[in-house]
Parts: sequence; structure tokens; C-alpha cells
Amino acid sequence: MADCYDVETRSRVMAAVRGKDTAPELTVRRLAHALGYRFRLHGFSEGRRLPGRPDLVFASRRKVVFVHGCFWHRHGCPRGRSAPASNRRFWRDKFDRNVARDRRAAAALRRLGWGVMTIWECQTAPRRRDRLTRRLLRFLSAE
Ligand SMILES: [Zn+2]
Repeated sequence: MADCYDVETRSRVMAAVRGKDTAPELTVRRLAHALGYRFRLHGFSEGRRLPGRPDLVFASRRKVVFVHGCFWHRHGCPRGRSAPASNRRFWRDKFDRNVARDRRAAAALRRLGWGVMTIWECQTAPRRRDRLTRRLLRFLSAE
């Protein structure tokens, strides 16, 4: 099955397996930090695990940010619409589960009073960094 991964996807899979942080996550953390916001990682607030384990938790502002890989979480961009040619059903089911899980997590968080922002991997590309910074600032500074 490993053979159906391209190099980029494989490195991301390996990062996930090792529990390491992906480059898009690190980019978003650096931006939030540069904007002067304090946050926690990996979905915890006051010792409690939040639905979906958001990547960044801004507890004092009651806001969370998810940084989603386009491929696994099915962004509307070309990368998120691509799928391996073999085992089509397996992949479709897997993708459907991921998308449903993301949706449930965001809904649960909003019910608990959290503001939720999703940042897609492709939006962290260097040429889109300015726009992302403005978006993040708008989200975090809003009451
Ligand atoms: Zn994308």
C-alpha cells in the first residue's frame, strides 16, 4: 500500500506516525507567536481534551485553530480532490470518515463556545503567507 503514496504524502504520513509536527503546523505556530498570541498545543485546555484535538488552543480567547492537510482532510483544492487510483472504495471511506470527524469536532467546539478556524496546508505556502497572517489576526482579535 505504501507504494501509492507520492514522496510528499509519504513524508507526511511518516511524520504523523512519529508524532512529529508538520511544516504547515509549524508555520501557523510561528505566525501566531509573531502576532503576540499565547497558545497551547494538541487540543488541551485546563487539562481537558477538546473535541478533535485542535492544533492550537488560544484558551484565554476561547478560540482554536485546526491546521489540516489538504489530502487527508479533503480540501477543495487540487491536492484535496486527488485520490490514489487503486483501492478507490477504501480511500473514499477513509476520506469520508475524516471529513465527518472534522465536522463533528467543529460543531462540538462551537456548542462549547469556542471559535473555530481551519487553516489548510496550501494556505500556508510562502506566497500566501500575508493573506493567512491577516486572516489569523482577524480571527484572533475578534471578540
Ligand atoms: Zn488545499
